Amino acid sequence: MRVLKFGGTSVGSPERMHQVTQLINDGVQKIVVLSAVSGTTNSLVEINTAYRQEGNKAAHQLIDQLEAKYYPFIKALYKSEKALAKGTTLVKERFDLLRSFDTATFDGDDEKIILAQGELISTHLFLYYAQEVGLDAALIPALEFMRTEEGEPDLPYIKNALKQTLKQIPSAQIYITQGYICKNEKGAVDNLRRGGSDYTATLLGAASDADEIQIWTDIDGVHNNDPRIVKNTQPINELSFAEAAELAYFGAKILHPSCVLPAQKEGVPVKLLNTMDPKATGTIISRNTAPAKGIAKAVAAKDGITAIRIISTRMLNAYGFLKRVFEVFENYKTPIDMITTSEVAVSLTIDDDANLAAIKKELTAFGDVEITPNQTIICVVGQFTQEQAGAAIKVLHPIQHLPLRMISGGGSKSNISILLDTQYKKEALVALHKGLFAAAAHA
Ligand code: ADP
Ligand code: ASP
Ligand code: MG
Repeated sequence: MRVLKFGGTSVGSPERMHQVTQLINDGVQKIVVLSAVSGTTNSLVEINTAYRQEGNKAAHQLIDQLEAKYYPFIKALYKSEKALAKGTTLVKERFDLLRSFDTATFDGDDEKIILAQGELISTHLFLYYAQEVGLDAALIPALEFMRTEEGEPDLPYIKNALKQTLKQIPSAQIYITQGYICKNEKGAVDNLRRGGSDYTATLLGAASDADEIQIWTDIDGVHNNDPRIVKNTQPINELSFAEAAELAYFGAKILHPSCVLPAQKEGVPVKLLNTMDPKATGTIISRNTAPAKGIAKAVAAKDGITAIRIISTRMLNAYGFLKRVFEVFENYKTPIDMITTSEVAVSLTIDDDANLAAIKKELTAFGDVEITPNQTIICVVGQFTQEQAGAAIKVLHPIQHLPLRMISGGGSKSNISILLDTQYKKEALVALHKGLFAAAAHA
């Protein structure tokens, strides 16, 4: 089995969908995971906000606008009247559902059902086209087998349920399914958070003993810096699972933060490929990667970080202090990203500040607490073994003119992280690119 995932832009127009059918028609049995048509999930988020804050009329206006985009889409997608009729019925049915909610009773479960419609629409429209052009394709509904338990995917359940689903249509060549959406332990519709289709793909790759997972997107693989911010970034041909996991977690938008883990666990190679340029090498993430040339391989940045410093003389020579500090974060289900300590203080960062006030209150029991919002973690990924001299200097040298709030290295061999105020992010990414990669690119 092979798993191929196509992102929003890759299914973002009728022409792209036509092209995807060509890319998947190679005789290999596969699961094809699709995102929503690009822009749709953002519109669904706006529809939710309208239902919550403005009322039915405002929500319906946005729904009508989104629906109007789908009719020219399906007209250009299909050749036959029969397929067009099926597409039209599907679009009407899904948008009638979107209109059926009511501000007066609107809740979180309704929100999740609305967010799921993007992938439900794209997969059905694509299936009708694939069948129209004669592919041996069948739809396997993600809500039958994708399941979370307390917000995290339940891989053993997924494995078993996927097997049962595939058993019902054993001979199909192409299984089409929805990325992003799932059911939770209560049986309610849920999702794997924004960008979650990547995660669906790697979970299905791990669950089906796939020989390869391919993530098709709108760029030729993972670049060595954020191409939205820095000019002349370069694709990286090979990454280890650890390197890719760090980049994904610390902000490289091309990969969902958790999506590397299932593939890493099962050792399934992940390829990142460009739908607009299918012949480009892209990136392969696997166990067999070549060590980094030079010291650093790539840089990524994660915004929306809050730094918390706890200053306490009770830390001096005391054991159990950090445990009690961590318990506070555990109680509020708030993950810690970075941590640095000194003799009398500990600094750490969180990106989920939903419970910040309560956390701060509890931490004051340990000492003085300082909170600094609007921080960015810059993560430099490479091979930083302890035998290597000068790695930290090389990483910090290009940003010596910027004020750094925290520096963390040695946690893993593949990451040095820096925390700074978000106002310096762009400058830091550009300077790091120049200092770490520009010379190598011209060598
Ligand atoms: P998809 O809809 O296919 O999932 P995304 O928009 O989620 O695509 O991810 C691809 C985008 O990620 C690229 O177009 C690029 O702008 C952005 N991106 C951010 N950081 C990186 C990086 N390090 N390498 C490649 N792309 C990146
Ligand atoms: N459609 C979802 C999103 O936009 C999932 C994805 O594209 O990966 O976040
Ligand atoms: Mg994405």
